[in-house]
Amino acid sequence: MMIKILFYSYLNNIYSCRKIEKALHENIYFMWLSGNSIPDYRTINYFRGKRLKDHINQVFAQVVKLLEELDYVSLNVQYVDGTKIEAKSNRYSFVWRKSVEKNKTKLEEKIKAVIGQIESQIKSDQREIDTIEAVKPIDSKELKAKIDELNNQLQDPDKSTQREIKKLKDDHLPRLEKYEKQLEILGSRGSYSKTDEDATFMRLKDDHLKNGQLKPAYNAQISTENQIITHYSIHQTPGDITTLEKHLNSFEELNGVQSKEVVADAGYGSEQNYEIMEEKEIDAYVKYSFYYKEQKASQKENPFVVQNLYYNEQDDYYVCPMGQHMEFKEERSKVSTTGYKSRTRYYEASRCEGCPMRGMCYKGNENRTIEINQNLNRHRSKARELLGSEKGLYHRRKRSVEVEAVFGQLKAIINLPDLL
Ligand code: SF4
Repeated sequence: MMIKILFYSYLNNIYSCRKIEKALHENIYFMWLSGNSIPDYRTINYFRGKRLKDHINQVFAQVVKLLEELDYVSLNVQYVDGTKIEAKSNRYSFVWRKSVEKNKTKLEEKIKAVIGQIESQIKSDQREIDTIEAVKPIDSKELKAKIDELNNQLQDPDKSTQREIKKLKDDHLPRLEKYEKQLEILGSRGSYSKTDEDATFMRLKDDHLKNGQLKPAYNAQISTENQIITHYSIHQTPGDITTLEKHLNSFEELNGVQSKEVVADAGYGSEQNYEIMEEKEIDAYVKYSFYYKEQKASQKENPFVVQNLYYNEQDDYYVCPMGQHMEFKEERSKVSTTGYKSRTRYYEASRCEGCPMRGMCYKGNENRTIEINQNLNRHRSKARELLGSEKGLYHRRKRSVEVEAVFGQLKAIINLPDLL
């Protein structure tokens, strides 16, 4: 009964528990749905915030299952896209990682200096002549213990030492605790809002004066099929690129199956995402940056562009437009923020000096070097083939009236101002 009431309220754009309670008193549809029961607004809030919180995903998946049984969706394909939704929290309530880390380091320096000073005082009182060890940065627990230890060691401290210890206890320690707590809330994020600690500051759509809007927000990802949302996931990172793995994993977890096809824009076309989809045996109808650029005649017919250079697979070298072999030089690995390791191979021409084509080929004083990520190139050519196929053209046409349209409907119905 409570789920019925909540769903019906949300359908009618009523989100406040007090307003829902009021509707249960006054609105005949609500009365019918609740069977004339009138739960208190606190009960509604408790049900929504505590009881339903961990089960809403299952309820959602059951509705999707029902739609699948009724043939509205097949779950074979997911059109994926994301949008940023502004949090209901104060836009000036930010906490930035950089400033927390900077202030914490400054405070640690101060604490270090004060403790060092007091310890040297103790040692000189006790006529100990051994060198004083440098004080390492300490956390709040260690600082608490250190303050107790200093208090025990000092039998008759002078006024200034007493002042310093008091300052350590009443000022430095609470500040250090505050910074530690802020860093814990931040986790791997760069910011959060004090009035909604789960919200992260993200750049939203510019306002009508073209001012950038940095606001506390969430990144909501959805999958749709026939304009029906078949899955959703909420993320704390602004970019779409890092959200796909979690989104696909939770889809599989909730629905017990994985889609055979995923359609998404170039914002998802990273090597890591292609790799994830390949592992899950998903056909990735996902564009990548340069997808449109490389289709242009200016790129296709340019002999100096890396993808147009001839590659000799057997002996592992490229041939430049002057016929010179560009030999393998080295391989470098790069680890992304998500921990994905990609490998780039470098090939270098042996003698570019005096080449008549140099001006057209590249700008630089050294021999030309090219960077090749073979795995990414393999994924891209696979994606290019899929996107160019008949089915790919169908998905590309449909994508624009799938997820985008659903976001448009959400914006119109729920009146969300900051959908991107
Ligand atoms: S500049 Fe170097 S790489 Fe480019 S065409 Fe001339 S020889 Fe080949």
